Amino acid sequence: MLSISPEQASQIRQHAKQEYPHECCGAFLGQIVGEDVRWVEEVVPITNEQEENRERRFLITPQQMMALERTAAQKGLKVLGFYHSHPDHPARPSDYDRENALPWYSYLIISVQKGKPAEMHCWRLLGDRSDFEREQMQIRALEMR
Ligand SMILES: [Zn+2]
Repeated sequence: MLSISPEQASQIRQHAKQEYPHECCGAFLGQIVGEDVRWVEEVVPITNEQEENRERRFLITPQQMMALERTAAQKGLKVLGFYHSHPDHPARPSDYDRENALPWYSYLIISVQKGKPAEMHCWRLLGDRSDFEREQMQIRALEMR
């Protein structure tokens, strides 16, 4: 389960709205608590490096990924996953998303309809990469653990 604060949720909505009609993307840094609660400590916006078709796809370069891993390690955190927006499309992973995702990470997708942030869903790629499954998401009311 991915656990984010209300502030982090609104940060994602803001970012998605600001980049519309292009896709926004970013990463989640945090810790794993208990069995499998992914407790997000920081939401890090990432510049969308995709040069073409930025409406429909995002790309995180290996350099950006390395920088993220470094930042996370310095703070004693892990890269837990990523978010991106789907302008005028549902919050469901596309084929492109499936081809470019990695197992284990949490992928939050936020739909933006006519410039307005809409539903958010979280997904995880299956181990055989054939499909995504929904991951539970929690917007926690209080900062406690
Ligand atoms: Zn997508």
